[in-house]
This record gives sequence, structure tokens and C-alpha cells, in this order.
Amino acid sequence: MAKKKEEKQEIINEIKPVVTENSVKFLEKYINNPSPTGFEWEGQKLWLEYIKPYVDEHYVDNYGTAVAVLNPQAEYKVVIEAHADEISWYVNYISKDGLIYVIRNGGSDHQIAPSKRVNIHTDKGIVKAVFGWPAIHTRHGEKEEGPTLKNIFLDCGCVTKEEVEALGVHVGSVITYEDEFIILNDRYYVGRALDNRIGGFMIAEVARLLKENNKTLPFGLYIVNAVQEEIGLRGAEMIAHRIKPNVAIVTDVTHDTQTPMINKMVQGDLSCGKGPVVSYAPAVQTNLNKLLIKAAEEANIPFQRQASSRSTGTDTDAFAYSNDGVVSALISLPLRYMHTTVEMIHKDDVDNVIRLIYESLLRITPGYEFRNI
Ligand SMILES: [Zn+2]
Repeated sequence: MAKKKEEKQEIINEIKPVVTENSVKFLEKYINNPSPTGFEWEGQKLWLEYIKPYVDEHYVDNYGTAVAVLNPQAEYKVVIEAHADEISWYVNYISKDGLIYVIRNGGSDHQIAPSKRVNIHTDKGIVKAVFGWPAIHTRHGEKEEGPTLKNIFLDCGCVTKEEVEALGVHVGSVITYEDEFIILNDRYYVGRALDNRIGGFMIAEVARLLKENNKTLPFGLYIVNAVQEEIGLRGAEMIAHRIKPNVAIVTDVTHDTQTPMINKMVQGDLSCGKGPVVSYAPAVQTNLNKLLIKAAEEANIPFQRQASSRSTGTDTDAFAYSNDGVVSALISLPLRYMHTTVEMIHKDDVDNVIRLIYESLLRITPGYEFRNI
């Protein structure tokens, strides 16, 4: 009986939340700050400010990818990585009567645009606007026209092109949504572009845990918050070339498939709250993946599995296929409503992704033999 009690105590200790009140404060600030693809610097500043106390040094590359480093002198290099950019829109055309037509900057969803409030980023500051939409009363006929890139438009309260331009808006101005961070039922974090700023948050939390638990790693740890993932893994491509790591563990989001209109036979059966997702894909190095799974099993971290055809569509691909081939793996966080303004993730999954990255790092040694033959 006494033994059992001890075991129970251990489990209680183990499932102690990882994310603290103070970290959630940072997360809220970080999520509410706009960080559009190609324009990520304000977010990177916040991230560096948060992570600095936990690392030895840091740098930023020409396009804005931020790197925080532990043991910079070490020859063997391990990367943990997430992406810092937020999908957004670009101003593409301003009509004579002052309406603004947009193009995507990343995979922004035209279906959710109508009636959303937005911020247009200009040198003169934020210009407010709304995605207009014809009233239900004015839409006649059997066949409803859905929102497409050709018919969605922004109204910023101007009636001429000149008025719009006088506000500082021009072709190429970038646009983000207003929606901010909330917590639902003390269980889910909700916000825009949790994909994948939650990843930047989680890798920063790994650095915090390493520091707070006085762990010294036998290799250089490069904590990378990469830019420009949403338009084709570009920030990761650049920084992989610069760091030339031996190992890369990437974290990004994946689809929870439990809500309506998602086919589990196509998308797999993944659920928020059931733990981090490990991936099977050619870019995922099999023995690094086994190391992750062993870490999860040994540390009692629940996990799920996902398979990908050809590519993972994440920065994992960029790292794996860089240099001479970098041993890479992916730890995904299940997320509902990807690329909407109400992306939802489970608090427990966030804790467990942080724990899984942390536990995996503790199991990597320089010169670890990852080859099968
Ligand atoms: Zn995305």
C-alpha cells in the first residue's frame, strides 16, 4: 500500500502543469501581437525578450529568423524549431470608390473573411477596416454566391482611392485580423495564428525548463523561431543552411479531426487533448522518431500518430533536405479550425509537447548513431 501511495505521489508530480501563469501572460501578448509573414519583427522582439534569460546568446538573420543558443561553442548541434509568422493578406488593388481588394500572404481563408474586422499595417500606423459583404436581403436567386478571392473586399470608410492612400494604405500594405487570445472553459487556448506562434512559445518554454531544472546539455542547442513558413518553409531553409545542425526537432500544428465535415479516412483520427502527434513521413528520420516515442513512453507522455504522403508540409522538410541531409523529426500539436481566427488548442497538449521536446533532448548525445545500416 505504501508503495502505491508513493507511486501516486510521483504521478501527481509528473502531471504538474508546465505552463505557468507568467508564461501565459507572455503567450497572450505574443499571440495578440501581429506577426505577418515577411513582417515578423515585432513578434520576434517579444520572443527574444522572453527567451533571453534562459540562453547563452542569440542572433537574428537578414530576414528575421530568431535563434537563441545554449552552448554555442559545441560542435554537435541540435535544433528545436517552430515558425513565427502569421498568415495575412496584402492590399492588391484599390478601386476608384475606395474599396480594397486583397491577395493572400500565406494560406488565408477567403471563406471566413466576410464581416471580419482587420488592421491594415501602414507607415502611419494601423488603419482599421472591415471585410464587407452584401446583405442577405439583397442576395436573390436559388444559388448563393460564396466568398472567393475575386469578390471579397475591404471597406475602410473611404469613398475614393485618394482618401485610402491619404491614410497611408498602398498596394503591398499587409493586413491582419483583430481577433485576440481567449481561454475557453479553462481547457482551450483560442486565438489567431496559434499556427504556429504556439510553437515559438513551446520551444521557449523548453529553454525555461532546462534553465530552471539546471540541465546541461552535451551539445549546442539552437532554439529557432523561423520566419516565412506559411509561404513555403523559406525561413527554415535559410537558417538550416546557416546552422548546419546534426539534428532538428520541429514543432508545428496539425488538424484535430473530431469536428464536423472532416473525413477521418482521409485526414486521420487525431484529437485535441490526447497528446502530441508524431509523424511518419520520408523526411522524418526513423531512429530519431523512435527516440521521441521512447521519450514519450518513459516519461508517461500520451501521444498520437499521423502519416503524411510525400512531405509533412512543415519546416521538418526544409531541415531534413538541407545540407547533406539533417536527421529531423516532427512533433505536432493538434489544433481545431486551422487558418481561421479562432484556432483552438488543448492546454494539456501544449504542456505535453513541451515535455516531449524536453525529454527527447535529454536522450540525445553527440555522435548518436541514427543510421539504420
Ligand atoms: Zn499554417
